[in-house]
Amino acid sequence: MALEIQENVPLAPLTTLGVGGAARFFVAATEHHDVEGAVAFARNKSLPLFVLGGGSNLVISDRGWNGLALQIEIQGLHHQRSAGGKIIFDVGAGMNWDTFVAQAISRKCAGVECLSGIPGSVGGTPVQNVGAYGQEACETIVSVLTFDLTENRVRELTTKECEFSYRESIFNTSQRGRHIILRVRYALVPQGQPALRYGDLQKYFADCDGEPTLSEAREAVRKIRARKGMLISPGDPDSRSAGSFFKNPIVTRLQHEDLTRRAAEKGLQVPAYPALSQQHKISAAWLVENSGFRKGYAKGRAAISSKHALAIVNRGGATAAEILSLRDEILARVEETWGIRLEPEPVFVGF
Ligand SMILES: Cc1cc2nc3c(=O)[nH]c(=O)nc-3n(C[C@H](O)[C@H](O)[C@H](O)COP(=O)(O)OP(=O)(O)OC[C@H]3O[C@@H](n4cnc5c(N)ncnc54)[C@H](O)[C@@H]3O)c2cc1C
Repeated sequence: MALEIQENVPLAPLTTLGVGGAARFFVAATEHHDVEGAVAFARNKSLPLFVLGGGSNLVISDRGWNGLALQIEIQGLHHQRSAGGKIIFDVGAGMNWDTFVAQAISRKCAGVECLSGIPGSVGGTPVQNVGAYGQEACETIVSVLTFDLTENRVRELTTKECEFSYRESIFNTSQRGRHIILRVRYALVPQGQPALRYGDLQKYFADCDGEPTLSEAREAVRKIRARKGMLISPGDPDSRSAGSFFKNPIVTRLQHEDLTRRAAEKGLQVPAYPALSQQHKISAAWLVENSGFRKGYAKGRAAISSKHALAIVNRGGATAAEILSLRDEILARVEETWGIRLEPEPVFVGF
């Protein structure tokens, strides 16, 4: 089938935040050869290429993308037992992530249950090594199949080669823009127990008798996420976001001392959550809320979610410029108050 190349395709509806302009050219790839065709098209026309998954971690500029936007829609899910007894799932990069999690859990496989309800595609999960409620994608990713634009060939990268860390991998740092992810391979534990490391989850099951099942853990995660506006629900205006807008900062001992001193001057105590403290992380939500911002604070049509201090939401008809203006106000006030420069988490496209 010939590659269908569309022109002037609005990108806002393809994102969860819903802001920004159009892509000059657009291709939706359902097969590996579509990807190679789209790359050839972009090269022939000397166009910059942007790869789009589920659009849940993006802020598109009001000018849009003056190049080719390539949306990965490659489906497919195959599973087999490995020699070590784990179940290996090969999943097309375009598959919806939460659909894959539901399928893994229906087969009683553990390892991704705490990542239930994260929007976006399977191919998006290695990019920023998604994580939630004490689990990270890198704990189960075995390899990532990519089209390497530098070597112009399909390659299978091992977990080690992906260099995963907190919200990072080679895909969003040292080799940003080099790989188009085609398929991700995960190794899950058959008949495994759910990981209930996180405070919120432990509290949820505190009064339950016996061990919760994987399905119960998934349901709990989705309920907790919905309460925070972190589950995409059409009826919830607080879920019209790009998720957490800022990463939890990793601080040095000196920065932590400075923060503790500044907090004491205000009669506050820096909260210590075991899950964050182990990695020397500070809660970005706490920093935002203690810099004079309250949940629901609005600036034009952009606002802080009324359920979660870390999410910036589009209240309806917002422009990317309005989102950025609120971002900058938060960054400046947190830095002035706490001496810490927060790092935004979403990817900014076309700025
Ligand atoms: C309500 C809400 C809650 C969220 N909660 C969490 C959370 O708990 N934890 C968390 O880590 N994240 C969370 N996120 C952020 C987001 O869902 C994840 O980062 C997700 O993995 C992004 O996947 P995507 O397919 O939507 O990628 P996109 O947003 O489309 O793209 C993000 C980046 O990945 C790249 N990319 C995507 N697909 C490919 C591919 N196939 N090949 C190469 N590059 C690709 C893009 O070029 C871009 O740089 C949340 C977002 C929302 C809206």
